[in-house]
Amino acid sequence: MSLEGQYDTENIFAKILRGDMPCVKVYEDEQVLAFMDIFPQAPGHVLVVPREPARNLLEMTDGALQGAMLRVKWISKAVKKALAPDGIVMTQFSGAPAGQTVFHVHFHIIPRREGETLSGHGSGQADMDELKNLAGKIAAEIELP
Ligand code: 5GP
Repeated sequence: MSLEGQYDTENIFAKILRGDMPCVKVYEDEQVLAFMDIFPQAPGHVLVVPREPARNLLEMTDGALQGAMLRVKWISKAVKKALAPDGIVMTQFSGAPAGQTVFHVHFHIIPRREGETLSGHGSGQADMDELKNLAGKIAAEIELP
């Protein structure tokens, strides 16, 4: 799907936002829901999903984008405290040719460690107990301003 097109209310993240599909939650408020990526590129890979129904960053309202970016920062700081990575990648893919596979806008927070290569984007499914354990550790470190 390119940058043109219509928002599909049946996409997987819309279903998770509605509570029609489960997720391993890290954080939620009126603006975003953050949960563990079930095909993580590294342990602790979190997705921050704005509640606003936009397919990509370009379609977001300025207010929703501002709110989402602040939450990416808050949750990234919690990832740093909880998992002590050497670095953190924050990414957002807009449009299939850019790497987007789920067409409800979202931000990736991926902890990186020296010398460790990333798993493929959306490859092997994580162990659910491990995801819940990581989500609990990250959630416990979130500090709201
Ligand atoms: P994109 O490629 O669109 O930037 O990223 C979509 C991400 O969503 C991928 O990293 C993929 O692993 C993740 N993902 C796809 N389906 C599900 C799902 O049902 N639950 C969760 N938690 N993550 C998903």
